[in-house]
Amino acid sequence: MTFDYDLFVIGGGSGGVRAARIAATEGGARVALAEEYRMGGTCVIRGCVPKKLMVYASEYPGMVEDARAYGWDAKVGAFDWKAFRKSLDAELTRLENAYRKGQENAGVTIHDQRAVVVDPHRVRLADGTEITTKHILIATGGQPFVPEFEGSDLAITSNDIFLLDDLPSSILVVGGGYIACEFACILNGLGVDVTQYYRGAQVLRGFDDEARGHVAEGMKANGIEIHCGTDVLRMEKTGGGIRVSSTDGHERTFEAVMYATGRRPNTAGLGLEQAGVELGRYGKVVVDDYSQTSVPSIYAVGDVTDRIALTPVAIREGQAFSQTVFAGKPSKADHELVASAVFTQPELGSVGLSEEDARAQEEIEVYQTAFRPMQSLFAGRPDRVLMKLVVSAKTGKVLGCHIVAPGAGEMIQLAAIAIKMGATKEDFDRTVAVHPTMGEELVTMKTPVRKG
Ligand code: NDP
Repeated sequence: MTFDYDLFVIGGGSGGVRAARIAATEGGARVALAEEYRMGGTCVIRGCVPKKLMVYASEYPGMVEDARAYGWDAKVGAFDWKAFRKSLDAELTRLENAYRKGQENAGVTIHDQRAVVVDPHRVRLADGTEITTKHILIATGGQPFVPEFEGSDLAITSNDIFLLDDLPSSILVVGGGYIACEFACILNGLGVDVTQYYRGAQVLRGFDDEARGHVAEGMKANGIEIHCGTDVLRMEKTGGGIRVSSTDGHERTFEAVMYATGRRPNTAGLGLEQAGVELGRYGKVVVDDYSQTSVPSIYAVGDVTDRIALTPVAIREGQAFSQTVFAGKPSKADHELVASAVFTQPELGSVGLSEEDARAQEEIEVYQTAFRPMQSLFAGRPDRVLMKLVVSAKTGKVLGCHIVAPGAGEMIQLAAIAIKMGATKEDFDRTVAVHPTMGEELVTMKTPVRKG
């Protein structure tokens, strides 16, 4: 049978565009891609990129305060959200066009509309056109999940935040994960009065306990009111905003409420079940190590598979898929020792096992230091940096590294190379420090603070 295409990709986000480009350029495949919203997907349009630009915007008031301590006659003026949004929109449009160009240059045909799966070798576009294809790649990502309760429709999500006409004067952020904590910090930095409710005992569950405690303390010191063990019962619109009743017995009114209570795979109405594709919890596409689904001609990469919901992981999965299927180079994406950063203030960078997870696995030694870094100490700020190495007592291998510091994301990227290579504590020790830096502490910690 001849097909219209060798590969049809549904979803123009990080995983989809990488897979399409590699299949076309390295695999010589005839490729089409459908995107129903904007090319670039969550990361570029309503995730990592606009978020990071908002992080930068939110950091300037603190920098201006520091500048004064360093002798500058500087003052923080008002933040002009509308002006910032205009520049942000322009930047996202530039990136969106760059993604489109990248695909076109690779010879990929783009359909700017929704596509659904009809059968293992056929997709249907929103305009009714049916297209046959040898392979289908599902790269539709995820979307914010808001639990259902009385008034839950009043909540906004991270999708909406970039599109607000005005910033609210006060906001309740619900959730304790990456998105909740990052936006609590961003909005706080931009001058919004931020309260955060999290149902568990400490935010950033899954990260090293000490590191997440350190982040939470820093967030509180910066003025965010964090209430752990607290969840929303119901919400109602009032003249003054949204009245929120919570499990701690309080009723408070906020101008806006943002829910960041996780994301769910984007598979509803895609036709996958009818095509015989096995779906798992919350509709995730079940795949093997090569991203192949239960239907041999259909593959899936990225957040829709609910493996590790990070852009660089989706890119690796997309790349491995196209190399395997089209370039004759069977390869699996490596999900071990994936570093990540939470762009809170203070920032958290982490790779490998937390102290708790490592201890459950084997005997460990913990090396750690907390100190006031030179730059902010001079400015009279109380910020403390945390550097922590979790080491195997038996092999000396560094099992985990956790950094809470300005620039922790940059530092952890480099530490991750060493740790991925299997570096031992001795390797760290024989690396000469770069002075004066914060990172030098990683190679100068001599005595374990805990063993066992
Ligand atoms: P997370 O899974 O990180 O966090 C979800 C949070 O919502 C948790 O605190 C969870 O609580 C809470 N929660 C879940 N369900 C409910 C509920 N029904 N009621 C109240 N609270 C609830 O999801 P995010 O949405 O923050 O982020 C999604 C993913 O996107 C992340 O896991 C990450 O992989 C990726 N991401 C990465 C970023 C980065 O690399 N910097 C930035 C942003 C996102 P509990 O802990 O109790 O389960």
